Amino acid sequence: MAEPVIGIDLGTTYSAVGIVEAGFPILLADEEGERLMPSVAWFGPGVVKVGRAALREMAEGRLVRSAKRQMGVRFGEAPGACLPVVRASEGGMAFRTAEGEVTPVEVSRVLLSELKRIAEFRLEQEVRRAVITVPAYFNNAQREATKQAGEEAGLEVLRLVAEPTAAALAYGMDKLAERSRVAVFDLGGGTFDVSILELREGVFEVLATGGDTRLGGDDIDSVVLNLVARKAGLEGPALEMEGVDRDRLVREAERVKCELSREESAIFRAPFYDGSRSLEEQVERVELEGGMASELATMRRICQEVLVDAGMEGAGVEAGVMVGGSSRLPVVQRLAGEVFKQEPDCSQHPDEAVAIGAAIQAGILAGTWREVLLLDVTPLSLGVETLGGLMNVLIPRNTTIPCKVGEMFTNARDGQDSMQVRVLQGERELARDNWELGKFDLPFRSAPRGKARVGLQLSLDEDGILEVLARDVEGGGPDVIVKIESAAVDVSEDAVEQMVEESVEHALEDMKARVFTEARLKAEELLGAVEVALAQLGAGLAGENREEIVAARLAVEEALAAGEANQLKGAVETLDKVTEGLAARMVEEALGALQSGGQTQI
Ligand code: ADP
Ligand code: MG
Repeated sequence: MAEPVIGIDLGTTYSAVGIVEAGFPILLADEEGERLMPSVAWFGPGVVKVGRAALREMAEGRLVRSAKRQMGVRFGEAPGACLPVVRASEGGMAFRTAEGEVTPVEVSRVLLSELKRIAEFRLEQEVRRAVITVPAYFNNAQREATKQAGEEAGLEVLRLVAEPTAAALAYGMDKLAERSRVAVFDLGGGTFDVSILELREGVFEVLATGGDTRLGGDDIDSVVLNLVARKAGLEGPALEMEGVDRDRLVREAERVKCELSREESAIFRAPFYDGSRSLEEQVERVELEGGMASELATMRRICQEVLVDAGMEGAGVEAGVMVGGSSRLPVVQRLAGEVFKQEPDCSQHPDEAVAIGAAIQAGILAGTWREVLLLDVTPLSLGVETLGGLMNVLIPRNTTIPCKVGEMFTNARDGQDSMQVRVLQGERELARDNWELGKFDLPFRSAPRGKARVGLQLSLDEDGILEVLARDVEGGGPDVIVKIESAAVDVSEDAVEQMVEESVEHALEDMKARVFTEARLKAEELLGAVEVALAQLGAGLAGENREEIVAARLAVEEALAAGEANQLKGAVETLDKVTEGLAARMVEEALGALQSGGQTQI
């Protein structure tokens, strides 16, 4: 067999590895015959165990679960972890195990090494190349961290694929001749992703993607646990007490939850959960469904937003494909049926579809299928900060990757000879509300305001990883290629979802802030120009016009002080108008020099 390429689903709770063999995507089982590997690692003295072997170890303080949630996340911003965490190099975090500190990338490396080993064991040959899936909503830093983990595991990572996109491949490979639009609904242990794709003659094009990196089966376990506590007349915190093995309660809650996917009721049992007391409560499926109201509302909202983004609000899709372990919940299937206006498609194995899709993508890259093309999108907008602290979007979210976008910028001050470029990711209008992926200083030949010409180019590769190229066009300086070093961004994974939510919530305020900032920039420019013109030509002006100008100028200054966008906009327009005459001779030139010539200032 030619050198194989494996496909890996590196899940938060379970992982799997697959390959295309004789034209069929299959998952590779380990020595115990299992195709799903729990995504856990146990760090013992001089030995690391992975998956089921790790779960069998009893010694405490050494087992790391759900490391994926901490990938590319900065210390202090990390969502709840299974072990105490400490600050690590590059701003990231590490788990404190009894064996020392391990970073999420190291844990992922260990998991990936094990999957590589399983593949080599089954294929009886060395494996060096892989495709790895990531949640559609992973940002730049999280994607880089995943790729790095793969490389440290001795794998050349040929491609990162979004999980719902991979699931769509699994769904669509036997329907290549058809033309349809499908939604993939992926509800796993800790994340929720929805993508809408168009499938046509072998092209899998993602139209829009959305999700919540903090919504999944774990939240539903908490719903069960809270229900049980309430029924038993316990306060929530009673289960947080010293001496209570919370992990055990959570696992029992998960068991009950899964049973409720099949049965109408189930019994939660936790004998001697705090050493002396016991819990035994019957939970009805309808109670669980009632308790999930807020989670269900979030899923519904996200699905609707993605439908809007894909431009398919009324149109509907041909299939709503369900994947992820938590998509087994009947109430979740009903919800998908409602939003996609048809019976949910449960033809794919909920736990295996993503890995099967990764295997297919690996097969495509290995050359098995030449007629298949995958067009994915970037989930979050990318841009740079411009004068006044605004976000200037260069690549809007849901843009097909790979892509490359360039824009010219100019200097905001006279004699400026360098500019700071801040590269941002997010959906908010103001730079400070988005995440900084990196910043760098770009020197250029000193120029009067608005005269420098600096080209910036952002390119996103097939993996959704960013590269920035900057060039001083006027000065002819050398190109600066900037690798965005974002081992960790300044936010938690949770904030990804929050960011998009807030962008909707704050859309109005943001718009106001933007309108004000733009009006302020215009006002300042105009005031400067008027001042110059008045000083030089003032004597030659008719008294009436002069008074008008002075009054209008005062109004602008007052509006600036008041900080009110519409008032300022109005005042600037008036000043603009009354200085038209003034502009005839002098201001024309003065303004000309001051204006940026249509280019955005940094
Ligand atoms: P991930 O991709 O995040 O690793 P998975 O897709 O493997 O997650 O899904 C794991 C989640 O699915 C867990 O929260 C698990 O409890 C949940 N799950 C598995 N089986 C069922 C079931 N029968 N009913 C409800 N939830 C289930
Ligand atoms: Mg998954």
